[in-house]
Amino acid sequence: MLTLPTRLSLSAERKLMPNWMVSPAYGPDLTFGRIAINEGALCIECKACGRRTALTKKNCEHIWRGNKRLVRSVRFRCQNRSCGSDQVRLYNAHTTDEATMWLAGDPLPVGRAI
Ligand SMILES: [Zn+2]
Repeated sequence: MLTLPTRLSLSAERKLMPNWMVSPAYGPDLTFGRIAINEGALCIECKACGRRTALTKKNCEHIWRGNKRLVRSVRFRCQNRSCGSDQVRLYNAHTTDEATMWLAGDPLPVGRAI
């Protein structure tokens, strides 16, 4: 009789974990640290020329665990030499698969805009 409630609360906790892990609604409050923790990517699309880039902790110095800096506080410049615009759209891909599909031209699922 005493072990039953413990077992129940444990399984309730397990049920909650996945929801917590993929919680999508960070929007403007997204930090670089959160991208690192989620193993996702910061997707940047140039409004001027349409060039797309996906930054991960492998190729972006800002993406590391514990970095509380807001993604929106950083200015990004298009790496296309003939463009150089700093007018970009920002998205958060939650997985590297999402980022890969997006780089290939697919839209991201709803709610990924930052
Ligand atoms: Zn551009």
